[in-house]
Amino acid sequence: MGCEHVKSLKQVEPRTTGCEECLRIGQRWVSLRLCQSCGHVGCCDSSPGRHATAHFHQTRHPVMRAFGEGDWGWCYVDERTLAADELPPPPSASPQEGVYSPSS
Ligand SMILES: [Zn+2]
Ligand SMILES: [Zn+2]
Ligand SMILES: [Zn+2]
Repeated sequence: MGCEHVKSLKQVEPRTTGCEECLRIGQRWVSLRLCQSCGHVGCCDSSPGRHATAHFHQTRHPVMRAFGEGDWGWCYVDERTLAADELPPPPSASPQEGVYSPSS
C-alpha cells in the first residue's frame, strides 16, 4: 500500500535553512527534516530537540523529507519511508552546515 498523503503535496521551499526552533533557542542539531506541507524545517530524532516530530504532533502535517543528507521522505501517518521518486521535486535551497557532529 502506498502513501496517499504525498499525492496532494507540491514542491516546497524551506522557511529556514536550519531547524527553526533550534535556531530560536540556540540549540544544535544532527540533521534536518523539511515538512512537505508548509516548509517548516525541524531537526531529526537523533537531535536533542526532535523538532520535526514535534512539528508533526502540533500540525499533523504527514510527510517530511530529509533536508541535507540523501533524498528520501517519511510519512508519519503511514510510518513508511518514501523514495525520492515518490516525493515532489526537491527544494532548490541548501541547508546550513550541521552545527552538531558527534566527533567534534
Ligand atoms: Zn502517508
Ligand atoms: Zn530542532
Ligand atoms: Zn508543516
